[in-house]
Amino acid sequence: MKPSINIIADKQNHQPSEEDLIQLSQRSSIVPNQSEIKPFLGIPKPASPTNPKFFNTRKSLDGTQSGLVYASKLKQLRKDQQQFIFDLADVDMRIYRSIEFEALGHSKNHLFRDVWAMMKGSNVVDVFEVDPANFSNFISEAYKYYQKHGNSFHNFKHGVTVMNTAYHFLKEGNLSLYFDSLSVAALMFASLMHDIGHTGHSNRFEDISRSQLAIVYNDTSILEMHHASLAFKILLHEDSNIFKTMDKEDYFIFRKYVIKGILSTDIKYHVSDLEKFQSKIDSTSFKPYATSTDIGDFLLLFGVLVHCADLYTPTKNYPWSLEWARLLNIEFVNQVKKEQELGLPVTPWYAKLSDPIEMAKSEKSFISKVVRPLWCEVDRFFEGRLSRHLENLDKNFGYWDSIEKGAMTVDSVKVPAGSSEEEESEESSDTMSKGGRTIMEEFSESGTIA
Ligand SMILES: [Zn+2]
Repeated sequence: MKPSINIIADKQNHQPSEEDLIQLSQRSSIVPNQSEIKPFLGIPKPASPTNPKFFNTRKSLDGTQSGLVYASKLKQLRKDQQQFIFDLADVDMRIYRSIEFEALGHSKNHLFRDVWAMMKGSNVVDVFEVDPANFSNFISEAYKYYQKHGNSFHNFKHGVTVMNTAYHFLKEGNLSLYFDSLSVAALMFASLMHDIGHTGHSNRFEDISRSQLAIVYNDTSILEMHHASLAFKILLHEDSNIFKTMDKEDYFIFRKYVIKGILSTDIKYHVSDLEKFQSKIDSTSFKPYATSTDIGDFLLLFGVLVHCADLYTPTKNYPWSLEWARLLNIEFVNQVKKEQELGLPVTPWYAKLSDPIEMAKSEKSFISKVVRPLWCEVDRFFEGRLSRHLENLDKNFGYWDSIEKGAMTVDSVKVPAGSSEEEESEESSDTMSKGGRTIMEEFSESGTIA
């Protein structure tokens, strides 16, 4: 989950203070050792005496079948939906590895196709022989639980965007040096599912309201525990298990990766994981390889990547970045209303966010003290391949600075008209995709949404 902050920086290292992190938690030159470089996706990992598990589970890619072959088996999607989602003939796959991808303008079916395309593009579909029938059931369930609470930000579009950011890391970064097929599948799955079932509240709210989830997860990373659990519950059903070819040993490792990735999105781990990562990438002893005997370094890398992908909002192109921020603000303002209704202590830094100037201050702090330090380290790990994201960070910081100083107003920011496709009204309860409307109009309304 992405935090809302209004924090005081430690000016020296630009890290949030302990007090800041309490607030945050309440919102809910590597030179690889050539001998350790592993085969990457696309070709099943060769069997070896030390790697027997891959021998049985990675079948030939020659048998890969078009999704349309399975159309008759699909249970939850209409034929026209199946055609749209699984036929990628006219899809320019380059969009998914570029910084231009933007889910806010996509309909439900388009989002389903985006996920299928990224699963195909990362070779997860082929290596694990993902059955389109299972995928259609899986993605329908994932969508249903993401949309359950009608969140403006923590919904399916957010999950797809985090997956896309992780996909960008995979394709544009140097992850082929460190990841194998199993860990790539885990990265795609964890990033997509990392907020499934999000209530639209912070962990603090779940805790002090004594919610069912707080009881189930003993006040510990309540939401993140819930997301990870729900993600795997969907896989328990045979009809929606997209990884049914995975053997037990692989599944055990896959679970370890995914759980680590999702729990790492709890902001309470931000500073400790970033500090570990910073020190590790300066060390020649850092060996973040999925096939290492000790996978401690790999799990650190895996968690940092999912957490970094989750903090994509200020790295997006203008004006989408501001739109994502606005949508998150709606959730915070709504939570304040619920806190007041329930007689709970109001989260003070949320209460201020209905003021555009305070929102601008909060976004500036969030960019400079949380997002930028993390993205800079990941960029360093990727040997400078995230430069466009960092440029956007600085540009967006400048926009918020202008808003704070009154040099520009939020009502001058327009989301491109016509960029929004039709929404499936029967299931889409989110409030996104308001093409052509101004940020100010939406922002003003946010204070009245119950
Ligand atoms: Zn998230």
